[in-house]
Amino acid sequence: MRSRFTAFYLGLFDYLIETHHQQHLCGLTAQLLSEGTQPNWLSLDVISSSESALRGKVTFQAWFKDNNQLDAIHESSDFIKENGSWYYTEGVQHNPIYPKRNELCVCGSKKKFKQCCL
Ligand SMILES: [Zn+2]
Repeated sequence: MRSRFTAFYLGLFDYLIETHHQQHLCGLTAQLLSEGTQPNWLSLDVISSSESALRGKVTFQAWFKDNNQLDAIHESSDFIKENGSWYYTEGVQHNPIYPKRNELCVCGSKKKFKQCCL
C-alpha cells in the first residue's frame, strides 16, 4: 500500500496498474491515471491494517493539496495475494478526518495545524 502511495506521489502509473488486480481494473489504464492535473501529494497516514494469508485490508488517509486546498483520500482498501504478490482490488471511501487545530499538521511541517494548512 505504501508503495502504491509512493507510485501516486511519483506518478508511476504503470506500477499502479500492475498492482491493481486485473479483474478490478474496470477499464482503468495508466493513460487514464496520468490525465488531468495531479494533486500535490503531502503525506500518508496508515490508520489500520490487517492481513491474513491471502487477504489484506488497509485504512489510510492520503493527504494532498489541490488548488491549494487541503484534502485527503480516506479509504479502506482491500488487497488480495496471488502468486506471492499483493494486488489492490477495491476500496470504500470515507470523508477525510482533519486534525484538530492544535495537533500537528498533516503536511509534515511539524507546525500546528492551525498555523499551517488549515
Ligand atoms: Zn501543513
